[in-house]
Amino acid sequence: MENKLIVGNIKTNMKFGEIPNYLNWFKNIKSKNVVICPSYIYIPYFLNYKFNVGSQNVCINDDGGYTGEISAEQLASIGVKYVIIGHSERRLFLKETDIDINKKIKSSINAGLKVILCIGENLEQFNLLKKDIILKRQIKDDLANIKDLSNVIIAYEPVWAIGTNKMPDKKEIEKTVLYIKQLVIEMFNQKIKVMYGGSINENNISYLKDIEVLDGFLIGSASIDPTKFIKIIDKVINI
Ligand code: PEP
Repeated sequence: MENKLIVGNIKTNMKFGEIPNYLNWFKNIKSKNVVICPSYIYIPYFLNYKFNVGSQNVCINDDGGYTGEISAEQLASIGVKYVIIGHSERRLFLKETDIDINKKIKSSINAGLKVILCIGENLEQFNLLKKDIILKRQIKDDLANIKDLSNVIIAYEPVWAIGTNKMPDKKEIEKTVLYIKQLVIEMFNQKIKVMYGGSINENNISYLKDIEVLDGFLIGSASIDPTKFIKIIDKVINI
C-alpha cells in the first residue's frame, strides 16, 4: 500500500488566506507518494514541505513567447515534480485536443517532470459501450511517439464519475485498469502505472485501497477540504 500515489487536485479553489490553515494539516506528511496540485500562483507556498507538488496544467510549448503560459521547464526549475495533463475539464472546457496533450507530455518529460495523464470516457460513451475504444484512442494519440514512458502514470477517470458521487464498482475498475496496462504493453511494449480518479472520498477510499492492480488515486473535491484529504491519505499510507 505504501507505494500507492495519492494526488490531490485542488483545481481553481482556495483563496490566498486559506493556504496557511490548509498547509498546517499536511506539515507532518513525509511521504513523497503524496502529491498536492494547487493553482499555479500558490505553488511556491507548497514547496517547503516533504510531500511532492504538482501542477494542474503546463504550456504546450517549451520556453518562449507564449504570454500568460507557464512552461514545463519553469515548473521543474521551481521544484515542481508532477504535472496533470489531459484532465477532462481541460479537454471539455478548454477544448484541449489529444495533439495538444501529446505535445504537453513531451515537453514535460523533457523537462524531467512526472506526468499524470488523465483519460476516461464520458457518460454517453459509457452508455454506448464505447469505453474501451475511447481509452484505446486516447492512449494511442496522447502517447504517440513517446519512447520512454517511465515518467508517465495514467489516471483513469470516467468523466461521469468526476464530482458526481458515482463510480464504477471495484471489479469494473480492476478490469479497466488491467485493460489499460495491457494496451500500453501491446502498443508501446512498456509497463505503465495506472491510478483511479472520480468521486473518491474519505469513506469509499477504504473500499478502493485494496484494489491491488491500482497504483494510486487522483482526488478532486475531497482534496479541497484538508480534514477529508488527510483521512484519505491516512487510510492509504497510515501516516
Ligand atoms: C478530478 O477532477 O480529477 C476528480 C477526481 O474529481 P472528484 O474527486 O471531485 O470526482
